[in-house]
Amino acid sequence: MTGFSTIAYIVAAVLFILSLSGLSQPESAKRGNKYGIYGMAIALIGTLTLPQVHSFCWLAVAVVIGAIIGLRKAKKVEMTEMPQLIALLHSFVGLAAVFVGYNSLILDTDIAPELQTIHLVEVFIGVFIGAVTFTGSVVAWGKLEGKVKSAALELPHKHKWNIAALALSLLLMAGFLAVGGSTFLLFLMTLIAFAFGWHLVMSIGGADMPVAISMLNSYSGWAAAAAGFMLNNDLLIVTGALVGSSGAILSYIMCRAMNRSFISVILGGFGNTVIGKAEDYGEYREWKVEDVAEALKDADSVIITPGYGMAVAQAQYPVAEITKFLREKGKTVRFGIHPVAGRLPGHMNVLLAEAKVPYDIVLEMDEINEDFPETDVVLVIGANDTVNPSAQTDPNSPIAGMPVLEVWKASQVVVFKRSMNVGYAGVQNPLFFNENSYMCFGDAKATMDKILAILKA
Ligand code: NDP
Repeated sequence: MTGFSTIAYIVAAVLFILSLSGLSQPESAKRGNKYGIYGMAIALIGTLTLPQVHSFCWLAVAVVIGAIIGLRKAKKVEMTEMPQLIALLHSFVGLAAVFVGYNSLILDTDIAPELQTIHLVEVFIGVFIGAVTFTGSVVAWGKLEGKVKSAALELPHKHKWNIAALALSLLLMAGFLAVGGSTFLLFLMTLIAFAFGWHLVMSIGGADMPVAISMLNSYSGWAAAAAGFMLNNDLLIVTGALVGSSGAILSYIMCRAMNRSFISVILGGFGNTVIGKAEDYGEYREWKVEDVAEALKDADSVIITPGYGMAVAQAQYPVAEITKFLREKGKTVRFGIHPVAGRLPGHMNVLLAEAKVPYDIVLEMDEINEDFPETDVVLVIGANDTVNPSAQTDPNSPIAGMPVLEVWKASQVVVFKRSMNVGYAGVQNPLFFNENSYMCFGDAKATMDKILAILKA
């Protein structure tokens, strides 16, 4: 390490901590992002001054190619595609850790004998975490992108397969240490870890994917930390540990929000993930936009519960205008946000902040759930699993036990979606067939635009 790179790494580490703290609140998220960008730029410059860097030529080629791909992707990506992009980026971290591990085993031949075992353990564990993160993240990307079915894969004896993969990897590790490092044994373990990561995420059902994603986020941090040990790079260790621990805390929060046991989810799906048989819930009632506008005019209190469909339709802007209009007419309008609404943590908060909805009327599920019985109208905009009462009533449902927004307790519930299709977890929603529920079909943005126009007229 040079004096300059040491200082650069310390400054970058502090900026990364400030970045994480900024990202914890919507108000400070932009600032947090900027700290992260500055930190990464300083870290890159610091790395270029390391004595191991002999030639800038190859680095420049890699940076230019990476920057072009990154810029193109960042400009093109829609807000709704962010989760799959994040999953893809996690997979890169995992794969990088695998490469660093092999590189370290093959090229680091001048390790002091007393440090040899530690070095081999670092390599083995680093490659294992990296390989699991890689295939797990690729499957997560496929599930979010709709390329892989979101329902859980149910292999016979699935837990036994997982245990066997872990046991075999431990055995290989013992052999790997006994022979003082072997590319062949490392390769065998890599194949097992690839299969293990694939199976872990394949067997997680749609509703439990938020936990899987935050868990993979955490794994990618630990993979980076492991790479930091192998490369002897302090900043990578610190950054990896920051990402790993914050991802683990996020996974824990997600598990609590969804009433899931963390261990059950990471060991391959939660409890009964079999999609129950389609039930006949009877007839649903339909409302036109004029009926919705009329109900809103008559209501004193309104709660809006947005979901993934609002993000897809980009309906947050007319929703924000409707909110403003109704509030100016003296009505109480608030938002109820489910912790896993949409496809990434905080998805709805980001969209509503983007449309300039005041933060103080955007409430968490726990803060608003008790208020539904006293509410005149609830607008369910593109939400499905997060307002599904069968989470409370059907113990065989894949979402059984998951806390939900109890919208059905309000006087009237209007559900905005395009069809009677199921939500991400793949289960039908009995809410749609309740006597006080009304379906308003169509793209959420087009529908909201029409309602706004009628209200204003
Ligand atoms: P869901 O994914 O359950 O349902 C979204 C609904 O939106 C669909 O039923 C769809 O119905 C409707 N929709 C889609 N496009 C439009 C459109 N253009 N206009 C109107 N409606 C539309 O949404 P929720 O937010 O309620 O639940 C999120 C689910 O995703 C949960 O199961 C959660 O566990 C999971 N998940 C969450 C993650 C997170 O971190 N937040 C990450 C990964 C998964 P139709 O097709 O009929 O229009």
